[in-house]
Amino acid sequence: MIIYRLRCSNGHEFESWFKDSKTYERQEKKSVIGCAVCGDSKVKRAIMSPRIGKKGKIEVEMPAEAAPAPAPVPTPAQQSMAALARRMPKELREALLKVRAEVEKNCEHVGDKFAEEARKIHYGESDKRGIYGETTDEEAEALAEEGIEFGRLPWIPRGN
Ligand SMILES: [Zn+2]
Repeated sequence: MIIYRLRCSNGHEFESWFKDSKTYERQEKKSVIGCAVCGDSKVKRAIMSPRIGKKGKIEVEMPAEAAPAPAPVPTPAQQSMAALARRMPKELREALLKVRAEVEKNCEHVGDKFAEEARKIHYGESDKRGIYGETTDEEAEALAEEGIEFGRLPWIPRGN
């Protein structure tokens, strides 16, 4: 079987299957092929749209740099922090990384429950200890108003 893209004299294009190319030629001569849209029998083969076959492989030249490996998409916060880190002087970046390492070594990570946990510690509902985590600007402001001590530091990503 062979598929041909056909076009009638009215410009309609459609595809039709034939046993082989000879069958198609015979049917075309006899005008027995009707347009699928208007029934017109003046049908000719249209130019086949390119298809990827075994031989006719489509190759696209692309420099290696233009095709980067897919990387995990960083969150906007991580993106801006990474951008900030890139603009920082090397010494500052290293100092911040050192602080980060110290905090990670000595404090408990509480994730986004920082404000909640800091409040509990402040009011003696939780053991007094160093904690670190993420908080929103609003939460941080509320903590400051309640007189809860905490520090904020740019949590810059490790590596380059
Ligand atoms: Zn037609």
